[in-house]
Amino acid sequence: MTTNKEPAALIEQTDVVIVGAGPAGLSMARALAPSGLAITVVEQNNRTSLADPPFDGREIALTHYSKELMQNLQLWSRIPSEEIYPLRDAKVINGYSNYQLHFEQPTKARGKPANSLGFLISNHNIRRAAYEAVLPYSNVRIIDGHSITEIDNRQPEAIEAIMDNGQILKSKLLIAADSRFSSIRRKLGIAAKIRDFGRTVIVFRMRHTLTNQHTAFECFHYGRTLALLPLEEHLTNCVITINNEYVKEILSMTPAKLEEDIKQQLRGKLGDMTLASTIHHYPLVGTHASAFYAQRSALIGDAAVGMHPVTAHGFNLGLNSVGILAKLINDAVDQGKDIGNKSLLASYQRHHMPHTLALYHGTNAMISLYTNDTPPARLVRSLVLRVSNNLPPLKKLISLQLTG
Ligand SMILES: Cc1cc2nc3c(=O)[nH]c(=O)nc-3n(C[C@H](O)[C@H](O)[C@H](O)COP(=O)(O)OP(=O)(O)OC[C@H]3O[C@@H](n4cnc5c(N)ncnc54)[C@H](O)[C@@H]3O)c2cc1C
Repeated sequence: MTTNKEPAALIEQTDVVIVGAGPAGLSMARALAPSGLAITVVEQNNRTSLADPPFDGREIALTHYSKELMQNLQLWSRIPSEEIYPLRDAKVINGYSNYQLHFEQPTKARGKPANSLGFLISNHNIRRAAYEAVLPYSNVRIIDGHSITEIDNRQPEAIEAIMDNGQILKSKLLIAADSRFSSIRRKLGIAAKIRDFGRTVIVFRMRHTLTNQHTAFECFHYGRTLALLPLEEHLTNCVITINNEYVKEILSMTPAKLEEDIKQQLRGKLGDMTLASTIHHYPLVGTHASAFYAQRSALIGDAAVGMHPVTAHGFNLGLNSVGILAKLINDAVDQGKDIGNKSLLASYQRHHMPHTLALYHGTNAMISLYTNDTPPARLVRSLVLRVSNNLPPLKKLISLQLTG
């Protein structure tokens, strides 16, 4: 809450304020744009990084449902087709065993013919597409280079967002899309479960001499996890998840040492490896907000749920949050209702919370098991893979989560 109010001249009226122009915030702006609402997006980074975001090492695995949502928002068509990589099938490996849990190439997804589990698109391409998708709308205004530092939602009819330059944005609804470390969530008084895994994820691309067969691999080795996301047939994104104490060791490797290290981890399965990108790393911290709304405000994207990337649900859930909340808001506009009313926001939470809670806790439980290297846990790890492989209903359920 702010105590020293700025002069009234600095107050600007708008319908919706979105904090954060990441992929979730911009997708939400685009989803609301056709309603004609005045939408103000505030982003602390500058416009250059929105218009031309740099490669950040993240390859985002998207479900068929996310593809539909991105098509509806005209994001999909803005991504060069040669940079949309099909994810044909996926295999999970435990320890150094050759046994594989195999999610085969599907024939159908969401009731339509399909020949891939999903798609891989680089995060910077999604961000660029989301930015370009809002540009044609004159009712979407982006204020860049500024952050929201305070929130005042004590009035029943409006919410005020105070910027770092003292300017106040007064709206009917504020949507926080300001990352898993959301400061707005905190200012709104919404608690969150936060789990620091004590691990770091290191990502980079490698070229290799043997084919990856467009198959993703999740290798739960002992001590570290290595995921392989196939891009081109001879180009793969490598995702190492490792305890924080060993991160420096990997980051200080020369390209030749890293290439040899990955080749060894894979026992030469992809042949000779050559580093093909910059190397990026992210702290592994999962978050789940205890509520997705407060007075005249809602959380979307990672601000609502920040997933561990191993199950690749993060932005897929972010898009779901956009789809659900935007529909409720657009319907309210059509019916001449208040877009910030409590029952609308409660309905958003009812629709989005149960699914995210199950995925969040399910993923975390899986991580706890597959990063436990004690002999009894190794046994259970192997058993779980075999049961999942041989129990068709369970396998089907996991496949459905993958395809969306
Ligand atoms: C290694 C890795 C791999 C991943 N793989 C997958 C995957 O395969 N599939 C998948 O679905 N997801 C994946 N994810 C998750 C995905 O990247 C995130 O879910 C997604 O990027 C979150 O988008 P967002 O817009 O919610 O948040 P962010 O991208 O974090 O954007 C938040 C924005 O808010 C701005 N901001 C913050 N505070 C303020 C403020 N006070 N005022 C103004 N602006 C502010 C920030 O500058 C930023 O631009 C992965 C993540 C990682 C780290």
